[in-house]
Order: sequence, then C-alpha cells, then structure tokens
Amino acid sequence: MAKITEELSCYGNLLVEKGLTTGPGGNISAREGDTVFLSPSGFSLAEIKPQDWVVVNLKNGKRIGKDNGLRPTCEISMHLGCYLARKDIKTVVHTHPILATALATAGVQFKGLFPDFVALVGPEAPVLNYVVPGGEELRKAVVRELKKGYNAVLLKNHGAVTVGENLKEAYYRSLLLEDAARFMMAILSIGKKIRYLSPAEVKGIENLEAEDYRKLLLKKM
Ligand SMILES: [Zn+2]
Repeated sequence: MAKITEELSCYGNLLVEKGLTTGPGGNISAREGDTVFLSPSGFSLAEIKPQDWVVVNLKNGKRIGKDNGLRPTCEISMHLGCYLARKDIKTVVHTHPILATALATAGVQFKGLFPDFVALVGPEAPVLNYVVPGGEELRKAVVRELKKGYNAVLLKNHGAVTVGENLKEAYYRSLLLEDAARFMMAILSIGKKIRYLSPAEVKGIENLEAEDYRKLLLKKM
C-alpha cells in the first residue's frame, strides 16, 4: 500500500508542476485489485501526503481500513466507473488543462497529430459535451467512451480524463493532450488549417515495431 500512495503523491505533484491543474482542481486515483486509492476532496494534488489518500472498495465504494477523516474526491463515481468499465484500467487522471480544454470547447478535434500522440494516446481522444461535474452524468459520458477503447477523453468547458495501466501511462497521456493543444494552437495562431495524419499514416505508426517496444517499456513500472 505504501508504494502506491507514494507514487500517487509523486504524480499529483508532477501534474500541478506541469500546470495541468490549479488549486484544488483535478483528481486522481489508482487501483490494486478491488482496492481504490482516491485523492481527497479539497486538496491541491501537490499537497497530498501518502497517508491522505482515501481507500475504498471498488465494488461498493465503502472505506477500507482506518478512516483518515478525509472525504474522497467528488468525482469518486466517475473514477470507480472507469475501473468497473475496463479491467486493464489501473489509474485514472482527471485534470483541468487550459489549452486542451479551450480548444475542445471551441470544437477542435483531437486526433492523430504527431507520432507520440498516436502511439501513446491513440488515434483519437473524443470530445464530450458539457455535463455537470461530480455526478452520474459525467460517469456515464466518460464510461461510454472508455468502453469504445479510448484512453483519453476531453470534456468541454471542464477538462480531461486519461486512464492507463499505470500512473506513468495516464500521466503521459494527460501531458500529450496539452502538447497536442499547443501544437494546434501554433498552427491556428498563424491562420493555417490543422493537418491531421491520414488513416494510413496513423496505421503506419501503430504498426511500428519501435513503438511496440516503447509501449512495452511504459507498461513496466
Ligand atoms: Zn474537474
């Protein structure tokens, strides 16, 4: 248990350091079997100590072990929904990245832009219409996309959700969404049209042996 809470605290720090969320915004979690470790409500992701993570049972959402007196993130339903939707999901990272959220809100699509995006995020990150945060509606909307196999989802007027087999993978996916947004902003700022990779170019990246190797490295934590 110590290892996973330390790792969560470390990645919480990194997400704030990279500017992907501000103040008490955003929430992250990880799971080990049926045990889920969630960020506590009201904390900046940069100030969560290993003992502050809220530990619950995946199946019923009830606390496991000693109550540390902290409330879990208000997005607990969405986090548990992600784990219940797909067995391969071991971490969920929800952030409020400014550029990615702004472009998604403006109706810009997030799909194959450069090789790392395709290799690590996938051919596309769907953009969802705004729904009230912290409730069943958000859980349903995100879970619907994850079940289609997507690993990153953008929420208009809100933020982003990425999932992964480990924290590093979900963290990289979050970073790559904001990188993609910067990439597109640069093109739009000079008045040009965004060029997305063609389906054949996306396939070419997916078939690269070197990418399989890199992905394999990512899975090893
Ligand atoms: Zn949020």
